[in-house]
Amino acid sequence: MNSHARDLSEAREQEQMILDAIEKWLERDVRPHVLKFDHADEYPHEMVEQMKELGLFGATIPEEYGGLGLSATTYAKIVEKIATDWMSLTGIFNSHLIMAACVTRMGTEVQKADLLPRFASGALRGGLALTEPDAGTDLQAIRTRAVRDGDEYVINGTKTWISNGIEGSCFALLVKTDPNAEPRHKGMTMFIAEKGEGFTVSKKLEKMGYKGIDSAELVFQDYRVPASRLVGGEEGRGMQAALGGLELGRINIAARGCGLAAAALNDSVSYAQTRKTFGKPIAQHQAIQLKLGEMATKLQAARLLTYDAARAYDSGERCDMEAGMAKFFASETAVENSLEAMRIHGGYGYSKEYHVERYFRDAPLMCIGEGTNEIQRMIIAKQLIERNPA
Ligand SMILES: Cc1cc2nc3c(=O)[nH]c(=O)nc-3n(C[C@H](O)[C@H](O)[C@H](O)COP(=O)(O)OP(=O)(O)OC[C@H]3O[C@@H](n4cnc5c(N)ncnc54)[C@H](O)[C@@H]3O)c2cc1C
Repeated sequence: MNSHARDLSEAREQEQMILDAIEKWLERDVRPHVLKFDHADEYPHEMVEQMKELGLFGATIPEEYGGLGLSATTYAKIVEKIATDWMSLTGIFNSHLIMAACVTRMGTEVQKADLLPRFASGALRGGLALTEPDAGTDLQAIRTRAVRDGDEYVINGTKTWISNGIEGSCFALLVKTDPNAEPRHKGMTMFIAEKGEGFTVSKKLEKMGYKGIDSAELVFQDYRVPASRLVGGEEGRGMQAALGGLELGRINIAARGCGLAAAALNDSVSYAQTRKTFGKPIAQHQAIQLKLGEMATKLQAARLLTYDAARAYDSGERCDMEAGMAKFFASETAVENSLEAMRIHGGYGYSKEYHVERYFRDAPLMCIGEGTNEIQRMIIAKQLIERNPA
């Protein structure tokens, strides 16, 4: 075996060990409790502590800073596995890892040494604060403003829909440092902001699905952040920091979509073999077989797109088109498979005794978060044209 083959086989072995450890955890500590936590919309504190022990808060943080340094490919497999049991859990570490990716990619050495080990251990947890009440897709329209005052910046504004907003304590916060800049993105800057005076949670947002994890509105009123927390130490690069992190975020959403689509399929395959109508299991009716065949094929296609995007990310290639395709297709597959699973389960698909109604409530979020699917298709088309000039 040459050294490349040896490295590859060691990486596969390490990946399998991690996936096995996660499977054991899911089986013992998650699966039996999902219905209860989801229906009560209860934050899973104990599971979060277990996620810390598994190293999930440092999954993609480089090993030199205390993380597991996993590839996007292994990360995607972990996310799919967890999302198959309970998608909400993946949101607790995903936006946290995007915040960490901002620091890894664009932070100064001092910022990396200060923040990444604490992010990796989960001692400092949080997420990404980009969206505002009047600006989501059009991020350059944000109004949260940071004004320099000596060694600090004073921040005023409101962020909304922030995942981990209540339970987290630290956020990658996108602001305007120059609201008159042209182009607009040149006036945007990213800070790593820890909760403190002037940084408050104004409300918990109620949702159709994605229960258990907190989504909140955050208000900044004369909040002071040290200038040393400006990511990269230079104003005007905030949009770059936000967009860079979103590639990994889109691979994560694609993997979550695969997890939901897989859960819907698994439950359907099993139910269709036990539920009988007209003297035989419904799995023997052709109408049900057509559904199962289509669900399985779409899931496999979604997985392959996700792995392809993760491979491109790992090899350092530009992968906005690949991540966009994976995110778009896998999230739409999650929606379609969850609806088909509901049809296959008949009335029981609508019952809170089964997981299927949860997949149906959780899946549409995958079409919205980390850039809506309308925007993904536009990104794909733009890249298609750029990569194939006439
Ligand atoms: C549960 C949940 C969790 C979230 N977590 C976070 C988080 O942790 N951090 C964070 O910053 N944000 C978060 N978000 C916000 C999310 O990223 C935004 O909702 C999303 O980016 C869309 O923005 P919007 O809601 O303002 O919709 P809008 O931007 O107002 O879009 C409305 C519609 O118009 C379409 N549209 C907009 N512009 C165009 C265009 N140019 N061409 C064609 N169609 C267009 C959109 O696709 C959409 O269909 C979360 C949202 C939810 C629901």
